Amino acid sequence: MFNALIVTKDEEGKTSAEITQISEDQLPEGEVLVAVEYTTVNYKDGLCMSAGGGGLVRNYPHVPGIDFSGTVEASSDPRYKAGDKVVLTGWRVGEAHWGGYAQKARVKADWLVPLPSGLTPRQAMAVGTAGLTSMLSVMALENHGIKSGPVLVTGAAGGVGSVAVAILAGLGHEVAAVTGRPETEEYLTSLGATQIVAREELNETVKRPLEGETWGGCVDAVGGAMLARVLGQMQYGASVAAVGLAGGAGLPTTVIPFLLRGVNLLGIDSVMQPYENRLRAWERVAKDLPMDKLEAMVVPATMSDLPKLTTDILNGQVKGRVVVDIN
Ligand code: NDP
Repeated sequence: MFNALIVTKDEEGKTSAEITQISEDQLPEGEVLVAVEYTTVNYKDGLCMSAGGGGLVRNYPHVPGIDFSGTVEASSDPRYKAGDKVVLTGWRVGEAHWGGYAQKARVKADWLVPLPSGLTPRQAMAVGTAGLTSMLSVMALENHGIKSGPVLVTGAAGGVGSVAVAILAGLGHEVAAVTGRPETEEYLTSLGATQIVAREELNETVKRPLEGETWGGCVDAVGGAMLARVLGQMQYGASVAAVGLAGGAGLPTTVIPFLLRGVNLLGIDSVMQPYENRLRAWERVAKDLPMDKLEAMVVPATMSDLPKLTTDILNGQVKGRVVVDIN
């Protein structure tokens, strides 16, 4: 028997979460049984834990947790054997399939990635889906060319934002960090940001489709009115990686930045990302994310902290990256 955070739904549709002892035979089907060591808290975990499962969870009882790291305990797939260190992100694990908020998880071999050398399971979850997505964003910007001048990171004190700031600064880019929490300024500067932009400066809806050419690239975790504003401030031919919707799913913009400035809007999805790209991104994380900066982002937690933390993240109250020691 082992511990799992089980979410149940009552007859009135109300959901509640409780740490419960379950057995291996209750786990869903899959080729690989993993002893989970660490998991984390992403915005999506907040949605999955919220009433109605945020429209993401299909069936109850459910074990949330969209990502985890750990050690293979048993595998019927030749690619993995007992003792291998692995990490999992995406593939709708924690939404449609039971996830990482349990001491064991059974999953498809295709969904796993071997932990790159130099990265511990704890560091892998300090990175988590949020950090992997930051790396995918930086790779997408690189593929399209990052211009000189500051690279903007929105939602900077959050998970995606924090890791993006550290990676970009580590690669030698000047980084401007947008935050709505002035108290995080020192934290963002310690991660490598050289300029702090107040959220209010970019929150207003677009008045002019083009403003001064300011940013050489952008990792955008916010979307909505802020993304629309930022598009009109990009340098000629620069790119924005659209990662998140913390500020809204709408995009109240015009096509003018695309037509007159050749701005590129690059969609970033981490969930269905092909295996080879995931592997490349994890290897880049191990190489290009300064581990001391990663450590500075870590908020340590345990399984019993999860209900509160998943609520906090929906309210924009989590700074950096939560690392949950599941044992
Ligand atoms: P966090 O909650 O950790 O970070 C989001 C940050 O956005 C907050 O910390 C805050 O930063 C800022 N923010 C929150 N609300 C608003 C608002 N109303 N207006 C402007 N800024 C706001 O979440 P994550 O970093 O884990 O995820 C960020 C986004 O990226 C989410 O929307 C998530 O769903 C998405 N995502 C997408 C993935 C993909 O595959 N495309 C993968 C992972 C995440 P600050 O306090 O600094 O202002």
